[in-house]
Amino acid sequence: MIDVYVNSKPFYGPDPKALRSYALNALESRLEFPFLERLPGAGEKIEVAKGIYWIRFPLPFALDHINLWLIEDEFDGRKGYTLIDCGITSEKTRDLWERVIADGLDGLPLVRVICTHTHPDHVGNAAWLTERFHAPLWMSQGEYAMGRVLLAGLAGTDGASTVAHFAAHGLTDRAHLDALGERGNYFRNMVPSMPLSFRRIHDGEEIEIGKRRWRLYAGFGHSPEHISLYAPDLELLISGDMMLPRISTNVSVHAIEPEANPVQQFLDSIERYLPLPKACLTLPSHGRPFRNLHERIAQLKAHHDARLDEVRELCRKPTTAADVVPVMFRRPLDSHQLFFAFGEALAHLHVLWYRNEVKRALLNGVYRFVTV
Ligand SMILES: [Zn+2]
Repeated sequence: MIDVYVNSKPFYGPDPKALRSYALNALESRLEFPFLERLPGAGEKIEVAKGIYWIRFPLPFALDHINLWLIEDEFDGRKGYTLIDCGITSEKTRDLWERVIADGLDGLPLVRVICTHTHPDHVGNAAWLTERFHAPLWMSQGEYAMGRVLLAGLAGTDGASTVAHFAAHGLTDRAHLDALGERGNYFRNMVPSMPLSFRRIHDGEEIEIGKRRWRLYAGFGHSPEHISLYAPDLELLISGDMMLPRISTNVSVHAIEPEANPVQQFLDSIERYLPLPKACLTLPSHGRPFRNLHERIAQLKAHHDARLDEVRELCRKPTTAADVVPVMFRRPLDSHQLFFAFGEALAHLHVLWYRNEVKRALLNGVYRFVTV
């Protein structure tokens, strides 16, 4: 349930290790990166706009980091910082948090924690931090509820459900099916607990952080009810995972919502950023802060259109999601990568299905899609 981390070459750009270097790929070279020469070191914060700071935490995946944001604030009569997103729970991350707390907060508390969505790299330390600082968690209802469901490991989100879901879409490789079934509670490994209560935030709401108004945008397709935050005064968007400069956001059909149409939802969601001003600085959860959001929206639309063309071609004869995976991801995938790749392959089939370009038929327990 984390983001892609599939990073298949033709579709997700170069090796993610290159994120550590300054080499931009062809698409990125059409964006503008005002902080290209600077990257926050361990426990260090960089001011990216007045009173807004960038900190960076490691992740043990192909995508090896997440950006978190600290905003100077006063909340419930306390001076301190509002934190956007938390990093996964791990020994390394907790050590780093101790350094940030000791050196990066000027002795002030976190007064509020806002999570853009419930993926482990964003919500992992929310319970620990909100308890430590007696700070509330602000999150959308869809994300908070799904986080509690995932933590409980309810049937429908467990390995057995994923195996049944993928098998119904043509996955027959026994080794992959066994590995997916044995994933256990993958979420709980990185999110040992969730805050027991939350303050709901929602699309269109305006909230105040650091004496500034921030407009909230719900985004769909990547997670249940992702929230991005836009400050008109600063022309600054904290985009979470809805807008990333280098990789395309993972959009998957999962077992718990097997008829979802997340690619379409994602494209519709990012289109809502088009009215934002040209100068808007986007702070993404992965990669570097960038300008030229409108160019990136066009790139992502083109990316998904190209994938849809491939799927359309395949669907001239009956096609399963398992048939789409090797066309869309042209290299061997381990079971972890397959989880995201498979969900994304199915998501592209569903776009054509919802547009009535293809029809779906269940034959011998397996769904096949074919051009109408
Ligand atoms: Zn995510």
